[in-house]
Amino acid sequence: MSRRHVAVIGGGYSGTLQTIQLLRRGAMVTLIERAERLGPGIAYSTRHSDHLLNVAAGRMSAFPDEPGHFADWLARRGEGGPAEFAQRKLYGAYLEELLDAASVEAGDRLRIDRQEAVDIVSSGGREMVRLRSGDSIEADKAILALGNLEPDVPPGIAPELRSDGIYVADPWASDIAAGLGDADMVLLIGTGLTAIDAALMLDSAGFGGRTLAISRRGLVPRAHSAADRHSSGLEAVPELQGSKLVRFVRREAGRLGWRAAVDQLRPFTQPLWAKSSPEQRRRFLRHLRPWWDVHRHRIAPSISARIQGMERDGRLAFASGKIVSVSPGERGAAVEWRPRGSEEFERLEPARIVNCAGPQMDIARAGEPLLDRLLETGRIRSDVCRIGIDVDAEYRALDSRGHASPSLYAVGPMTRGAVWEIVAVPDIRGQVQALASRVSA
Ligand SMILES: Cc1cc2nc3c(=O)[nH]c(=O)nc-3n(C[C@H](O)[C@H](O)[C@H](O)COP(=O)(O)OP(=O)(O)OC[C@H]3O[C@@H](n4cnc5c(N)ncnc54)[C@H](O)[C@@H]3O)c2cc1C
Repeated sequence: MSRRHVAVIGGGYSGTLQTIQLLRRGAMVTLIERAERLGPGIAYSTRHSDHLLNVAAGRMSAFPDEPGHFADWLARRGEGGPAEFAQRKLYGAYLEELLDAASVEAGDRLRIDRQEAVDIVSSGGREMVRLRSGDSIEADKAILALGNLEPDVPPGIAPELRSDGIYVADPWASDIAAGLGDADMVLLIGTGLTAIDAALMLDSAGFGGRTLAISRRGLVPRAHSAADRHSSGLEAVPELQGSKLVRFVRREAGRLGWRAAVDQLRPFTQPLWAKSSPEQRRRFLRHLRPWWDVHRHRIAPSISARIQGMERDGRLAFASGKIVSVSPGERGAAVEWRPRGSEEFERLEPARIVNCAGPQMDIARAGEPLLDRLLETGRIRSDVCRIGIDVDAEYRALDSRGHASPSLYAVGPMTRGAVWEIVAVPDIRGQVQALASRVSA
């Protein structure tokens, strides 16, 4: 019997679980990953013990049909139970272990290529994945699991700000406190989950100076609460859109508490997104998304307490406003910014600027060779809101004319244009399982 051969491009959470699900169904898989580690991806590669999962262990199983899988793994290591917000690096180790076990079981059905994929060409109903080395891999199907794009570089970042280590593009890749003294200030661009990670890294490194985090709205992720009511009164998709839906959620928040009001929408966010028009989606992204993100993607209570302690000590502040210019300064950088609602510019002299702006979403602006090539050859297109790769309901990539490919797919955060809620583990694990069943059938 000839086995179906699938090339999976990207070995973060999505690609790793996609691979495991395909192997479980008897397929042959070539997993292509350009980074050093396979499994943890960007989210779970951190080495910092301070970086915790923002979802309790009991909801972080890699497998939809084995809900206790991760919590049991954690308990076997004496690292806590299902209510624990475990260290992200432990989750990375869990993923590595899962892939190792799947690889042993699959034997020669799994091949791993540690390279960058630079093109995918359709040829005679098959997919040819071209690698940076010039080699090609021929497969029946190819699945893009490329994860999030790098954040935009703020305007005005001169080359010397990078080379002198004043500007840090990736907060997880280096010691962002290196060389700083207590008289220095650090500017974090962004106030979301990445800024929280960066503030914790500075704190752990003993940085005693001041940190200011700025974003347009200055919204900071809210915390989970042990007293959360997990009641879900909703049994069907609310037949509401736009401002009516917002009013409904506000009313529910009065009745159940805001956490439960947000959480009970969770099973319905994908159908709600599917039902909404492009204009409604754009309005959500423009006006509501920052609010949705901070209420929906919450941080562990212990992290929130630590952040609040830093704010009370005057070591950390969050602000809303716009960064107007960045240039080299005497002791680092010179930054002009305009606080929200003000006409006046203010000046900062940070010794370090850390980009915590979160991923940019427009695949056409990413400067990723593979995406550039696939767009150029018309094999993929941006979704209507330009927040990822356009796919149909079966995660088949849509070409430049809107035709679904029979053999090229995408999974993970890149498919947010089609389903919106596809960032967290509980959503991605269901998506990759469904696609594995379809692709290996
Ligand atoms: C900091 C952070 C913390 C998070 N915490 C949680 C949490 O606690 N709970 C939760 O449920 N969710 C969390 N998430 C969300 C979620 O788990 C991630 O979005 C998820 O891990 C996405 O995985 P991915 O594989 O799609 O992307 P990535 O992890 O970005 O992996 C994509 C991989 O593709 C590779 N790649 C890209 N292009 C190519 C190419 N051309 N050739 C070869 N390889 C390529 C990259 O090197 C990368 O390794 C977090 C996300 C982040 C960023």
